[in-house]
Amino acid sequence: MGQSMVAIIEEDCTGCDLCIYHCPFEALLPLAVNPSGRTHPKRPVIVVEQNCVGCLSCIGSCPTDALHEVGVPPISLESPLLNPSAQEETEVVKRWRKRATRWA
Ligand code: SF4
Ligand code: SF4
Repeated sequence: MGQSMVAIIEEDCTGCDLCIYHCPFEALLPLAVNPSGRTHPKRPVIVVEQNCVGCLSCIGSCPTDALHEVGVPPISLESPLLNPSAQEETEVVKRWRKRATRWA
């Protein structure tokens, strides 16, 4: 049995950011710039491949079903965990607020 991780269908992602706080590993981050030609006014969220452990905690958090599970090849040389795709610049997300007892 191989490991899994998640991927985001960019055209289905509205950039609502709901999923970000469901990831304990900071593997979901918003792009810093909205890609040209995108139909949604807000930039999408991407999966930081080397941070995703495949826990699937985020899957049910997306109102548009943009998140889906993908299998990771068992051969380590092909795994995105070790050979992540080139990643565009992302925004910094503040997960904790001052005096907070949980994520923002
Ligand atoms: S599967 Fe787990 S580690 Fe990967 S993005 Fe979702 S919540 Fe984060
Ligand atoms: S919850 Fe879904 S639509 Fe919202 S940012 Fe995450 S992937 Fe995109």
